[in-house]
Amino acid sequence: MKWLGLIGGTTWHSTAIYYRHLNELASAKLGGVSSAKCILVSLDFQEVVQNQSGGDLSQNESLILDAAVRLKSAGAEGIMLCANTMHFFADKVTEKVSLPVIHIAEATADAIKAQNLSRVALLGTKYTMEMDFYRDKLSASGIEWLIPNAADRDFINKSIFEEMGLGVFSDATRARYVQIIESLKDQGAEGAILGCTEIPMLISAEDVSIPTFDTTLIHAMAASEFALSG
Ligand code: GLU
Repeated sequence: MKWLGLIGGTTWHSTAIYYRHLNELASAKLGGVSSAKCILVSLDFQEVVQNQSGGDLSQNESLILDAAVRLKSAGAEGIMLCANTMHFFADKVTEKVSLPVIHIAEATADAIKAQNLSRVALLGTKYTMEMDFYRDKLSASGIEWLIPNAADRDFINKSIFEEMGLGVFSDATRARYVQIIESLKDQGAEGAILGCTEIPMLISAEDVSIPTFDTTLIHAMAASEFALSG
């Protein structure tokens, strides 16, 4: 089994879920009391948010690259950025530490194609919804994406940083997410990417009428496959 290096804390609520998924997957595959070999560098999310308060994600570059270097020196053989948004730095991390980065958007694109879907809604932070680093991976796999309108994007982004990041998952917010996903379905979305690792803690498959893609689980599955192969 390979050592996985996790850059987590973005947020710790979803990093805890990653840890559970990775161990459950290793146990299901290997049986007995097997569990996942992993190393975690957990960031202070307050610092992450402060750095990008001017709306510029790139201000977090040194924080992320420093975490990757720590993981490499601790023996990590593959890196997981435990957030969709932090994949903005995926190429830079590969360049810096010359280790494979298990890419959340590539794994999600594979999961969408496995269900023969070609047009999906993308929900996540404003960075994930509005910038190219994530959407380009979908397009490269021949997947069309739709994003919510500006007011809904604002609502989603705010709910991530001001509610879910604090561990608050409310019925009112869930209801608004359901409305947003259903309206994107009316615009042609065949599925919805829960493209922020906290969203699967709010919305589950039964809440909406189209398939959902839980990026935390999909990412953990891809990493587990990497760790347990070869
Ligand atoms: N966990 C979130 C994501 O998957 C957002 C936190 C962040 O900005 O890194 O994008």
